[in-house]
Amino acid sequence: MLSPLRTIADLRKTVRQYRSQGESVGLIPTMGSLHAGHIALLEEAKKETRRQIVTIFVNPAQFGPREDFASYPRQEEADCRLLEEAKADVLFAPSIEEMYPSGFLSRVEVGALADRLCGPFRPGHFSGVATIVTKLLLQSLPDCAYFGEKDFQQLRVIQQVTKDLDIPVSIRGVPTKRETDGLALSSRNAYLSPEQRQKAFLLPHLLETIAEKISQGQGITALLAEAKGQLMQSGFGPIDYFELADEETLSPVSSLRRPARLFAAVYLGKTRLIDNWKVGTS
Ligand code: AMP
Repeated sequence: MLSPLRTIADLRKTVRQYRSQGESVGLIPTMGSLHAGHIALLEEAKKETRRQIVTIFVNPAQFGPREDFASYPRQEEADCRLLEEAKADVLFAPSIEEMYPSGFLSRVEVGALADRLCGPFRPGHFSGVATIVTKLLLQSLPDCAYFGEKDFQQLRVIQQVTKDLDIPVSIRGVPTKRETDGLALSSRNAYLSPEQRQKAFLLPHLLETIAEKISQGQGITALLAEAKGQLMQSGFGPIDYFELADEETLSPVSSLRRPARLFAAVYLGKTRLIDNWKVGTS
């Protein structure tokens, strides 16, 4: 079974060995409880790099005080087996003390991109993400790092941070992997009851149909209101947001002059589902 590296020193040593053999490196940061969405990132990395490093770290700095840090699903043994099967080269799974030793003080702050969409509902979340991803990138110095479009705002934040801080890595976005009924794979789907799971397809279904209607030129405001109404009627809620936003700035838009996506964050029971759908303009 793939045996996890626990220390930054061991990670650096391994990467040094790869580099000394002239091998390229891809990094896939995760919080574990791995599923086919994570494996899609690994497969993409295999196309472009010789060695792939998957990281598993449930990062306390990106969870709010009332969020699910304590209960977040953790299953390292199963993850190791899956990664062995999928032929990852390295699993880096450090302790909290290794990543945040006593005396740790710094944080990476992102600015406006982090204030959009999930920003107001999860204060400090993207700063926590930016901080841990910056650390992982500087610890491993990969050629490319892979992130899912499922968490599109996260992907944009990481692109911005690496650009602003001149971190020499290419950030790759990978399309969302979905269940057959359209639900985006997510470790948090494990929280859904069987009845909730049956209903959950409605979110991607609405995103897809509303995206289609918007691209046909139907009125955006009315469509967004209609989608929210349908979700509430079907037992979803509260709805943090269901909106059309610019792909680059993530600011809300009311016309299709630039590439845009529909973005949603909606509760189903206690589970917060997020998803997004490209609106086909360009
Ligand atoms: P997580 O473990 O949920 O923090 O996710 C780790 C990485 O996997 C992030 O870059 C996510 O965007 C990506 N990811 C999670 N779910 C999916 C999915 N269904 N399809 C593609 N990528 C995903």
